[in-house]
Amino acid sequence: MLKIDEKLCIGCGICENQCPFGAIEVVDGIAVIGDTCTLCGACVEECEVEALELEDTGLKKQDDLESWSGVWVFCEFTHGELAPVSLELLGVGRNLADSRGVQLSAVLLGHLTENTADQLIAHGADQVFRADNPGLELFSDEIYEKILSDLILEKKPEIILAGATAIGRSFIPGVATTVDAGLTADCTRLEIRQDDGALMQTRPAFGGNIMATIVCPNTRPQMATVRPKVMKALDPDDRRSGDIVDIMPTARQLVSRIKVLESVKAPQSNVNIQESDILISGGRGLESEKGFNLLHKLAEALDGKVSASRAVVDAGWIPYPHQVGQTGKTVAPKLYIACGISGAIQHVAGMQSSETIVAINRDKDAPIFNIADFGIVGDLNEVIPKLIAKIEEKRGS
Ligand code: FAD
Ligand code: SF4
Ligand code: SF4
Repeated sequence: MLKIDEKLCIGCGICENQCPFGAIEVVDGIAVIGDTCTLCGACVEECEVEALELEDTGLKKQDDLESWSGVWVFCEFTHGELAPVSLELLGVGRNLADSRGVQLSAVLLGHLTENTADQLIAHGADQVFRADNPGLELFSDEIYEKILSDLILEKKPEIILAGATAIGRSFIPGVATTVDAGLTADCTRLEIRQDDGALMQTRPAFGGNIMATIVCPNTRPQMATVRPKVMKALDPDDRRSGDIVDIMPTARQLVSRIKVLESVKAPQSNVNIQESDILISGGRGLESEKGFNLLHKLAEALDGKVSASRAVVDAGWIPYPHQVGQTGKTVAPKLYIACGISGAIQHVAGMQSSETIVAINRDKDAPIFNIADFGIVGDLNEVIPKLIAKIEEKRGS
């Protein structure tokens, strides 16, 4: 509970400005706390006269924190293929494990996984827990959840990472509930806090307007999901060695109330913008659906693909699989050309890891220029044809 010492409060109003929830208000010279207070604590440290105090929140504190050790990555294997996000998570997992001075382990569930465990070791894992069984050929929430939860409770890793993919989103929350842990979804940055070794899990909050860092200092394990393409995989090193620990799922674990009849790979939409090294992205500055014709020409000249902001997807100018951003895809191409895109934070959240960002916008103050490596101030209808002509001229020569 948040308490105010009315004798100390001088009604300065600093806390009012600090509260992200508008939950505290100065009335007649004294701060008053409203019902929307979430006990976040942001106001407490700001009060210069120490009139605010956050009393025991009643949150539990585990007394065996020290016995949880190691970083784990759940590696997704379906239709005979490893999901690329697994390797990306091993990249960040390696950093976390090194910061903590612990082992990095991969958990691989599936069937006919062949040399996948070696691939995981080459990408940074010290150890692979592998359950390769015909009963795991088709993904099943219940079965995967039981195997992973049982393994976590037996081995006690301090950190567990998984991809925010359809499969990860489907069963990882169930695992978190079973092992009585919190779960931070869609993290964009993961680091270790040096003071106490806790995992700092950063993700967009409040519609992407702020980045929030979430820490679970009192409980283990700490669990987080990360979307594909947010983290970078390490280059494989085939000289790396590691242990492969084979796990035999029990009959109890392989029982499910759900019978999966068939798993069909979704036909690839005609665009997979996450796989392209060059993206030409269009926004409302294109002015209409026809504006994309120009982008397709530029994409053709550069051997790239066309992506878009949400504004134009919502307007129906281009289908959703092309959308980049917080509610679209996260991309990290070598070259991202933003044409007529203002650079709203929700858009930037999905493309800021691109190697080189070029922005074309007629408004010199557009926020996109803050993150662009190269900015062209001008009308895209004039700039893009000139760019195409220049590229074709270079190619021709
Ligand atoms: P605008 O903001 O309208 O910008 C158009 C730009 O084009 C302007 O900067 C203008 O100067 C420029 N322009 C106009 N004409 C020309 C011309 N002829 N030549 C050159 N420049 C020109 N957005 C996303 O993109 N992806 C998301 O995933 C996403 N998720 C969201 C989630 C939430 C919860 C919310 C609240 C919003 C989300 N948004 C997302 C929307 C986001 O806030 C912006 O509204 C959106 O990105 C704006 O798209 P835009 O840049 O194309 O359009
Ligand atoms: Fe009172 Fe402290 Fe808030 Fe100022 S910051 S109004 S002193 S509680
Ligand atoms: Fe606002 Fe957080 Fe202070 Fe509550 S604890 S009044 S939510 S800043």
